[in-house]
Amino acid sequence: MGDELKCRRCDIAMTEGFIPAESNGFRRIATWQEGAPRGFLEWFKYTKQPSTIPIVVYRCPQCGLLEMIAAASKES
Ligand SMILES: [Zn+2]
Repeated sequence: MGDELKCRRCDIAMTEGFIPAESNGFRRIATWQEGAPRGFLEWFKYTKQPSTIPIVVYRCPQCGLLEMIAAASKES
């Protein structure tokens, strides 16, 4: 909202969306996590706290290009 993202191929406005993430039956929004996953269990060990930065995904309605942004949380 406000600053709309334009597709770098088509130069038209992209549609905001998100990637659903399901864990233990809970539906959440995929979040950005620092570091590289080396296997799920190991990754969990290194992850002290799950990231709270939600990934906003913009999709071009024309060519389907996706643009992902994990901006810092709005609450501060
Ligand atoms: Zn496009």
